[in-house]
Amino acid sequence: MQVSLPNIERVERVALPARESAIIVVDMQNDFVKPGGKLVVPSAAKTIEPIRRLLEKARRRGVKVFYTQDTHYEGDPEFAIWGEHVRFGTWGWEIIEELRPQEGDIVVRKTRYDGFYGTPLDDLLKVYGIRNLVIVGTVANICVLHTAGSAALRWYKVIVPEDGISALNDFDFHAALRQISFLYKGTIVKSVDGVEFQ
Ligand code: ZN
Repeated sequence: MQVSLPNIERVERVALPARESAIIVVDMQNDFVKPGGKLVVPSAAKTIEPIRRLLEKARRRGVKVFYTQDTHYEGDPEFAIWGEHVRFGTWGWEIIEELRPQEGDIVVRKTRYDGFYGTPLDDLLKVYGIRNLVIVGTVANICVLHTAGSAALRWYKVIVPEDGISALNDFDFHAALRQISFLYKGTIVKSVDGVEFQ
């Protein structure tokens, strides 16, 4: 079947108020990103450097940085779907060295695709008065999409830099961008370099 791709609106830059914005780095853990990981997304490796640049810029401006960390324990029902991955305490569960959380960052452990489901993320964002979320990480059409959708349903403004997310194939990647922009009214930025904090 030939699939025609709908147009996805993309912008070159977006300017955000630093104090009301946060970065959410989704599941950049060894099992998803690194050779030898249990559920590797090969294209995730090329997002490491853009995400690193984004974090550097954000921290310089005092923008709050959040991470989600997919976390499973013995007998988790997700293992029946995906096989065992990001088991608590293992190397695969850890966030990759290049993007290691720094002092003042907040790591939210989650058990499902959605970073808000069963976590204190919404409460933490409200504590800090955050309204805009720049979401990066992996997998674009799974945990990134569910977290972006869940954020949008709560009326956060979602911004996704295209070079900061990754998927297993082009269809999944575009499907995620399409849902985020069309359904959730998020902003797709061509690159992390187009995200400015004021
Ligand atoms: Zn999982």
